[in-house]
Amino acid sequence: MIRHGGFLGLLLLFAASVVLAADLPFDLQGHAIQGGLLRGQAAPGARVWVAGAPVKVAPDGAFLIGFSRTAPSSVLIEVAAPAAPRAAHILTVGQRDYKVETIDGLPDSQVSPGPVALERIARESAAIKTARLRASDTPLFTGSFQWPLTGTLTGIYGSQRVLNGAPRSPHLGVDIAAPYGTPMLAPADAVVALVHDDMFFTGKTLILDHGHGLTSVYAHMSAIMVTEGQSVVAGQVIAAVGQSGRATGPHLHWGVHLAGVGLDPALLAGAMGASSLKETPGLSP
Ligand SMILES: [Zn+2]
Repeated sequence: MIRHGGFLGLLLLFAASVVLAADLPFDLQGHAIQGGLLRGQAAPGARVWVAGAPVKVAPDGAFLIGFSRTAPSSVLIEVAAPAAPRAAHILTVGQRDYKVETIDGLPDSQVSPGPVALERIARESAAIKTARLRASDTPLFTGSFQWPLTGTLTGIYGSQRVLNGAPRSPHLGVDIAAPYGTPMLAPADAVVALVHDDMFFTGKTLILDHGHGLTSVYAHMSAIMVTEGQSVVAGQVIAAVGQSGRATGPHLHWGVHLAGVGLDPALLAGAMGASSLKETPGLSP
C-alpha cells in the first residue's frame, strides 16, 4: 500500500511536471516558500483554486497566493480558463527554520497586560482584523514592492519570542531601526485602510490596502501624513519613524498580510540597498 501510494505520488508529480513542460496556462512570479507571496497571471475570466479553495481573480486574470509561516511543503494549484481544460499543478513550497528569541527579566506589566489593557487590546485587534479583511477588488499589487525606508534590520520574519519563559506569537514582520522622524514611503500603491493614533502594542498604526486582501501594516510611528480612504502611490512619503506603543527604540515594524495570513515583507521588497544587515533569515535549503 505504502509503495503504491508513493508511486501514485510520484506519478502525480510527474504529471504536474509534464503539464508544466507543456506550458501551464498561467504564470507565477515570486517566492514559493513559507512567508512568500506569488503573483499569478491567468487568462482574463479564469478561475483559480489553491488547495481546493477559490482565490480572488481580477478581471484581467491577476491573482495572489500567499504561504503562511508554517505552510506545508506542497500545494495544489488549479486554474480554469474560459473554454480551456482545468489545469492542475503541484507547487513545492520551501520550508524555513526560524529563530527563537528568549527575553527574560521583563516587568510583568509588559508581558501580561491587566484586564483594562486586555479589553483595549481586543478592541484594537478587531479594528486591525477588519481593515485586513477588506479585500478590495482593485489589484494595486501588480507593481514591485520597495522598502519603506533604509535602516538597520533588527527583527526578522518568523522569529518565535519567549518572554519571561512563556512562548508568544511569532514575529510576523520586519523591524527596521532608523532615527526618530525618518520619513517612510508607501511600499506599493494602496488605499489607506486604517489610521490609529495610539494602539496598545503598535502605537501610531497605519494599514494599507493593496487589493485582493493584501495589506501592509506600519507600527510605532511618530507621525502619519495620510488619512483613511486616501489613495497613495509607491514611494510616497506617508509617515515618520517613532517609538510609539510597545517599542524600545525608534523603528518601523512592517508587516504584510494576505487574507489575514502574515507574510515576509523582506521577500517582497528584496535587498534593502544601503542598509546595514544585522541578521539574515534562517532559510533551510
Ligand atoms: Zn516588529
